[in-house]
Amino acid sequence: MIILKSKEEIELLRKSNQIVVHILKALRKIIKPGITTLELDSYAEEQIRKKGAIPAFKGYRGFPASLCVSVNEQLVHGIPDSRRLKEGDIVSMDLGVVRSGFYGDAAITVPVGKISQEATKLLDVTQNALYKGIEQAKAGGRLYDISHAIQSWVEGNGFSVVRDFVGHGIGRNLHEEPQIPNFGLPNRGVQLKAGMVLALEPMVNVGTWRVKVQPDGWTVVTVDGSLCAHFEHTIAITEDGPDILTLISPNH
Ligand code: MG
Repeated sequence: MIILKSKEEIELLRKSNQIVVHILKALRKIIKPGITTLELDSYAEEQIRKKGAIPAFKGYRGFPASLCVSVNEQLVHGIPDSRRLKEGDIVSMDLGVVRSGFYGDAAITVPVGKISQEATKLLDVTQNALYKGIEQAKAGGRLYDISHAIQSWVEGNGFSVVRDFVGHGIGRNLHEEPQIPNFGLPNRGVQLKAGMVLALEPMVNVGTWRVKVQPDGWTVVTVDGSLCAHFEHTIAITEDGPDILTLISPNH
């Protein structure tokens, strides 16, 4: 069942999501060659608690950290550790919080110093795929219109979309229905309605779409070792179109 949210609930969701994006913005600023992924996690957790929120990922199904940090061929769910970032890396940071019972969730992939042309294109295509999906998130449309827009943009740019992980509804739970694949046929899936709050998160590989989980039980990597990227926004569908709750707002 897809839980529709009231305007008041959407404002509470906005607050939680604003905490997430302000922390991601700060993380983007402190990233530089030499910093460890664990330092990024510690910073994120400290900031979450300072803002009166709780890390949503820490302890979720046993995940040990507040921030997922995934480098280069790591797609999602990377566990922060003593690894030092180096010039040329690309780093996906996925952050979730809960505050007043409502969840926030967003992810960005950022460059460390100067990166290759291919990596630059990958970040660009993946971020734009997210916006192509958001454009389709309108009342009266169908769920897989979002999926299809993401897939056609990515494949049209010569990259592939991961099949194994999907976007999701979000609210009083981190993961709610519906699941939102990043591939699919248009005019299919449930009808989109005002009040739906969705976390859209294209995951894009330079090579094959196939991924696997590392022996740590969490870190997902591309099977061919190719670079990959991940961007995520949480949005509310309104009568006036998509409202991106994770767009930085100076009022929060
Ligand atoms: Mg998510």
